[in-house]
Amino acid sequence: MLLPSLREQVLEANLELVRRGLVLYTFGNVSGISRQDGLVVIKPSGVPYEVMKPSDLVVTDLDGKIVEGDMRPSSDLPTHVALYKAFPEIGGVAHTHSEYATAWAQARQPIPCFGTTHADYFHGPVPVTEVLASHDIVGDYELNTGHAIAKTFQKNDYARIPAVLVANHGPFCWGSDAAAAAHNAVILESIARMAYFTRGISVDAQPIGRELHDKHFLRKHGATAYYGQPKGSK
Ligand SMILES: [Zn+2]
Repeated sequence: MLLPSLREQVLEANLELVRRGLVLYTFGNVSGISRQDGLVVIKPSGVPYEVMKPSDLVVTDLDGKIVEGDMRPSSDLPTHVALYKAFPEIGGVAHTHSEYATAWAQARQPIPCFGTTHADYFHGPVPVTEVLASHDIVGDYELNTGHAIAKTFQKNDYARIPAVLVANHGPFCWGSDAAAAAHNAVILESIARMAYFTRGISVDAQPIGRELHDKHFLRKHGATAYYGQPKGSK
């Protein structure tokens, strides 16, 4: 079996979405990539999480062609593959229809950064894609969804904002590996929920100031990060 440890990791990341209450039934999908092999491991389509095994996951190449697996891959595979091509440093992608993040996507509104929880993970509002044109929907829909996301990040930094809201659809998140992508999906849902309540309490609520935003993001990410323990320490 190809890529046994990546299969385990991707299965575990998919199960994390269930444990955190982000998915109903067989909704949602996480994938991971081995850049070295040019191969993607993704959840199979329509298999219940409770019975999913590492061997059920599907291995494809970067054209979405199945390299190993008896099951059909998640129908969102072309979106995942488009993201791996557009964002060369990511190692995992997670997609859910988690309720609060999806509500913002349906309202076609970016999630403003109202506080430090958001600032810790996303260095700006979580953006919304453009609405897909009819010919993009009738055509290669899942691939065009990936292109719409990539287009949104021509003016945003995918390394600093590891999530997007696909207009009228829901969130896609990414990270250094499948676990990080699933983690970002969980955090995104949490900040989407907080932002919804913040707006509800005050329609005039203002986004966090630049200084506090930078402070929180940069103490966790980047060259001068100091949050948590140094790498290699116990
Ligand atoms: Zn979806």
